[in-house]
Amino acid sequence: MAQEEDRHLNFAGEFDCPPEPLPTLRHSASHVMAQAVKMLFAEAQLAIGPAIEDGFYYDFAKPEPFTPADLERVEAVMWEIIKADYPFVREEMPRDEAIRFFEARGEPFKVEILRGIDAPVVSLYRQGDFVDLCRGPHVPSTGHVKAVKLLSSAGAYWRGDERNLMLQRIYGTAWHSQEELDRYLWRLEEARKRDHRKLGRELDLFVFHDVSPGAPFWLPKGMVIFRELERFAREAQDARGYQEISTPVLVNKRLWEQSGHWEHYQENMFRLEVEGQTFSLKPMNCPPSTYVYRHALRSYRDLPLRLSEMGRLHRDERSGTLTGLFRVRQFTQDDAHIYCRPDQLQDEITGVLELVQHFYKTFNLTPSFRLATRPDKALGSREQWDAAEAALHDALRANGLAYAVKPGDGAFYGPKIDIHIEDALGRDWQVATIQADLVMLPERFALEYIDSDGQAKRPVTIHRAIFGSFERFIGILIEHFAGAFPLWLAPVQARVLPVSEKHAAYGKLVFERLRAAGLRAELDDRNEKLGYRIREAQVQKVPYMLVVGERESGAGTVSLRWRTGEDLGQRPLDRVITEAMAEVASRSLTLTVGHSP
Ligand SMILES: [Zn+2]
Ligand SMILES: [Zn+2]
Repeated sequence: MAQEEDRHLNFAGEFDCPPEPLPTLRHSASHVMAQAVKMLFAEAQLAIGPAIEDGFYYDFAKPEPFTPADLERVEAVMWEIIKADYPFVREEMPRDEAIRFFEARGEPFKVEILRGIDAPVVSLYRQGDFVDLCRGPHVPSTGHVKAVKLLSSAGAYWRGDERNLMLQRIYGTAWHSQEELDRYLWRLEEARKRDHRKLGRELDLFVFHDVSPGAPFWLPKGMVIFRELERFAREAQDARGYQEISTPVLVNKRLWEQSGHWEHYQENMFRLEVEGQTFSLKPMNCPPSTYVYRHALRSYRDLPLRLSEMGRLHRDERSGTLTGLFRVRQFTQDDAHIYCRPDQLQDEITGVLELVQHFYKTFNLTPSFRLATRPDKALGSREQWDAAEAALHDALRANGLAYAVKPGDGAFYGPKIDIHIEDALGRDWQVATIQADLVMLPERFALEYIDSDGQAKRPVTIHRAIFGSFERFIGILIEHFAGAFPLWLAPVQARVLPVSEKHAAYGKLVFERLRAAGLRAELDDRNEKLGYRIREAQVQKVPYMLVVGERESGAGTVSLRWRTGEDLGQRPLDRVITEAMAEVASRSLTLTVGHSP
């Protein structure tokens, strides 16, 4: 108790006003926005206004959508409310009285929410003459909202269900300071420029078509990136004792009943009737992979068995939620299931963590780690869980990794490590997971190995994916690199540009030499001005341009230019090729050709 008081004293002494958590600030900003909207559009009915990642929104029932000019007016009124510094005042009201209260105010959505609440008493929050049904918490007063900006408006269905009424949503963002807000707005603008759907079109990487919603058609240039990532993953896995398998996409429902997916996951699965039997497109690779494990009798000496799979998966996502490569119905997971003895768990997790770091370092993405532990409802014994959690803790420490613990956030069948990455814009993405599965696959599929004492025992299964989905990861990479891929990933690595028709033959020879060396080259000998063709190659973010004219064809050289605009002058062709091949082989993140003395 005394300690607790001490801490409060220290805290109060060191900071005159500790900042509120951002979600509280942002949610409070949504109340301010709702008050402003009600002042300008009395007929607008209030739905909900939560804080979201990086900001907040509020949904209103209103016949006409908000226009950009409306948003400006709303924001101007918000500033008046902020200046007035109304306190957020909490009051409690019996639920039934609150229903009558909001009915009288013409707020049917609040009434519907209240009817779904079990509690006898609910809380309302008042600021000025605005009142909203809310659990809180909020900042003390509207004046605490200091750096706020409205961003956009869009239609959104009540409760996210397309059978419900379409509401009008306004998105905004709020931060502790103007600098933080400015930095966020810059990031947003930069993200718009880098949007993978826009760049995917401009760079000819992939297209979507309504004949198959949520499934990309990979164009040749996008497929180059896909293949390079596969090659990278395979190389890394081969070097670490993984064995690759491939399991069927169309699988009888029997298997999903056994795995439990039929009971818990059916609505996300595509089902088909084939010869009177029900099949499903696999939404995950785990259950099918057990057939490979069970194909042979396993002894303790066979373990660990590291089975990787580039699994083509389908999940039935609602068409309204599909978003470019970030949310798709068909995707490819860089999956692996490691079957091991309990005493091997820590070493195997240590190995996966090493692999994770190797992956992300290659792309200059910074990973962070969260260990999720035993939830209240968990299968398996306390001893199994304690041992598995200890193995994960120790594996993280063995790799020298800092990590957060999320107590109770593990899967019901075992603890896991969630891995997030931070991209070039400082955005956070959850990509990978490493799950220790103590019971799900092992128990449901009766997996066994014969131990050294001759007894049949259950192995532990590690589920792991590092890119997560190739599709989503490529989307992240496009935005992370702004389409300017490192040489090894670049769909076109070099473009040969003859100065004029006279040099076409030498240009062709240079192009053939590059291609014979395994480099992805293009020859642009169109009858266009050289400057125009250089600019076009730069727009396409082709790393190297090799300009060839009179001098170059006489000397067996090329004039080397980078997509960044740097002009490195004449270089021997042989040297350019050797250096480019070395840059590809090392999977360098930066351009290097022509920079050596
Ligand atoms: Zn609230
Ligand atoms: Zn799995």
